[in-house]
Amino acid sequence: MAKNLSYFQGKIIPSEKAMLNIQTHALQYGTMVFGGIRAYYNSTKKNLYIFRLDEHAKRLLNSAKMLQLQIKMTEKELKQIIFDLVLASGYKENIYLRPFIYTSALQLSPRFHDVKADLAIYILPLNDYLDTKKGLRTMISTWRRIDDNSIPTMSKAGGGYVNSALAKSEAVQNGLDEAIFLDSKGYVSEGSAENIFIVRDGKIITPSLSSSILEGITRKSLIEFAKKDGFEVIEREVTRGELYTAEEVFFSGTGVQVAWVSEIDKRMIGNGKIGEVTKKIQDKFFKIVHNEFDEYSHWLTKIY
Ligand code: PMP
Repeated sequence: MAKNLSYFQGKIIPSEKAMLNIQTHALQYGTMVFGGIRAYYNSTKKNLYIFRLDEHAKRLLNSAKMLQLQIKMTEKELKQIIFDLVLASGYKENIYLRPFIYTSALQLSPRFHDVKADLAIYILPLNDYLDTKKGLRTMISTWRRIDDNSIPTMSKAGGGYVNSALAKSEAVQNGLDEAIFLDSKGYVSEGSAENIFIVRDGKIITPSLSSSILEGITRKSLIEFAKKDGFEVIEREVTRGELYTAEEVFFSGTGVQVAWVSEIDKRMIGNGKIGEVTKKIQDKFFKIVHNEFDEYSHWLTKIY
């Protein structure tokens, strides 16, 4: 049986003991950054693999740096803490890890300088976050993606997720699965918590960093292996019309993994079935994360 453990105030402790004071600064202002990491269990190999731990550690610390969160920790130290927590927990199933760096002082006044920050991590067992088998029904959100110059979208800043929550609720309350954001210039940005790709004339296209997106680690991984597999992958501005008329549309993200879109604003995408390119990308992704591709085993951190 796995143990429900968390990393809190410098120690690994039972999760029910990891409790925050209601005056915690980050809770008032969303002044925190977080990560989302998956580890996949391969029952044949009897091992658990963290996907792209190096990249996740780097992004979390860079997110903290962008906001000037007062934490002194190296990438190596952060990776070791994550590894130790996963090992001590003893999971033999797919899990999701949520590390976050938050302003932990009991203080008022929104700011990043001169407020103590801390690291905390918890773990949840998790399979699909959105269905990866059936097509997702989506809408273009009436909410615009927060601009990179309002809250840096390359940082996974807690406060920025008010924007995501508004879009997600609007989509679900309209009977749909997910929302797609446009950026402040009106170009396609991303989903509420995932990056977006379209297929056009057989080419894979995804909004570039200038469209107020999070630089997804899944996105980066897909771009890398799709190119190696001979696909042309282009990062550029994507218009709303291109979304509606794309041959295929899919999302990528740690939570969403690789999930495909069958409908946007009542327009059917392609023939409403999973597209050929998406299917190839999705199959390869699931093989890679379960350590069934030696070529990509360096993306995985083996736990046991
Ligand atoms: N965009 C947003 C807004 C997200 O929250 C996420 C999830 N982390 C992603 C994209 C996908 O990023 P990643 O592949 O690193 O999980």
